[in-house]
Amino acid sequence: MNKSDCKVAVVGGGLSGLVIAEGLQRRGYENVTVFEKSERLGGKLHTIWYKGKSYELGAIFGLPSQLNLRALMKRLNIKADGPKLSRSNYNVNGQKIMPIPKENLGDFVEELDRLPRVLSMYNSLKNASNENTEYSLMLPFSEWCDMHEFQILKTIYVQYFTIFGLGNIEEVPALYVLRIMNYDHLMSFMDLPKFYTWNNGVSSLAEALGSQIKDIRLGQRVVDISLSSNETLWVKTQYELLEFDRVILTAPLEQFLDLHFWDSDMKKCLKSIKYQSFNVYAFIVDKVPKGCGCILENLSPNRQGHITIWDSRWDEYHGEGMVILYAYDPAKNSEKSSLDIIKDDLLNLGIKNLRLYQAKHWRHCPYVDTISLKNGFYDKMEKMQGKNNVYLAGEIMSTLSMENCIRYSQDLLERFF
Ligand SMILES: Cc1cc2nc3c(=O)[nH]c(=O)nc-3n(C[C@H](O)[C@H](O)[C@H](O)COP(=O)(O)OP(=O)(O)OC[C@H]3O[C@@H](n4cnc5c(N)ncnc54)[C@H](O)[C@@H]3O)c2cc1C
Repeated sequence: MNKSDCKVAVVGGGLSGLVIAEGLQRRGYENVTVFEKSERLGGKLHTIWYKGKSYELGAIFGLPSQLNLRALMKRLNIKADGPKLSRSNYNVNGQKIMPIPKENLGDFVEELDRLPRVLSMYNSLKNASNENTEYSLMLPFSEWCDMHEFQILKTIYVQYFTIFGLGNIEEVPALYVLRIMNYDHLMSFMDLPKFYTWNNGVSSLAEALGSQIKDIRLGQRVVDISLSSNETLWVKTQYELLEFDRVILTAPLEQFLDLHFWDSDMKKCLKSIKYQSFNVYAFIVDKVPKGCGCILENLSPNRQGHITIWDSRWDEYHGEGMVILYAYDPAKNSEKSSLDIIKDDLLNLGIKNLRLYQAKHWRHCPYVDTISLKNGFYDKMEKMQGKNNVYLAGEIMSTLSMENCIRYSQDLLERFF
């Protein structure tokens, strides 16, 4: 079919959906419609404003090593002009601590030196999609580290991975950790002054992309997709039923478990998708703590629910202002609510007179476990691409991060459109 006649529906107006819709238009597709269930674009790019300053409830920063993000920013003429992020590590009482004990520094350098050679053995990590993943990448990251004798790197990865709500490395397969934080990103991450942030917030990326897209439908949740008798697809929202030639799903896929055209294997795959339950709190406090602080003791599973990081973002303020806090949901048997745990933590850190401004619960960092990977999750999902003219993208296909979402979305267009 002629590109200019082909009607494409993109489900989800987060970064993946926007990159795909804008990319399709640039490729000559003239009938591209984005359906976004909420009243704003961006999904996990979620900037809020307080007293004229931007704060992030979702994604916070990019890295110079993230080449696809860099290229997108260049094309959209977006500069990394936001606040510089600092990073210090603290104990629960607010005293500064070292991320690695001095006596381990030698081993750390040796392991870091060895890492690129080890990673180069994994060809699957070089591709945008996750097919043909090597067996050992399916193991929990902690086991993968033991296999390669990376004992210090293991603790460093916890500080860069678990801390951002991405999960427990005893469970999350190495595939996810190493895709989200590859060698270049790890090195870039250690180089703090070069973090990318945005004066107008990360949502400025979504707004810039959105301004290029001709047909965006906000507040319209796709509730069903079905095949018509003449090989087109019916997309049903809470308001209407519309006909398309192709549909690209970038929204969380498990909600589409019951689409009538999936086979039983596909349903099993969609059922196996898991998330981290992660909370972001924006508090107004009398005296903003300085910079970005990681509370390393709170990364152990028995401290689940406590603050993992705070971020004051605009470092020049030390009077009244906003601090953003991050924490996993507490354990199911916890007697205290997530908010009460956070408030106590803040008091322990000496931060008083707190007012909760906004909070956001995220179903964060989708993944599947070792068993599902061994059962061929990604091989099956990739085989479904284009079947019945339905395509799959978004975080579970690309793995988390703006870089991975952009890369996968662009790769999908290269492969099929
Ligand atoms: C707290 C947090 C911090 C993060 N920090 C960083 C960071 O610092 N750096 C980084 O690179 N990445 C970070 N990320 C990850 C990054 O934000 C995401 O990987 C990326 O933005 C995901 O984009 P997406 O479009 O695939 O998914 P989403 O952003 O989840 O977009 C999916 C969209 O689909 C919509 N939708 C859902 N169901 C339907 C439906 N039925 N019909 C229509 N629309 C629907 C949703 O409303 C949403 O807008 C962070 C994420 C979170 C939550």
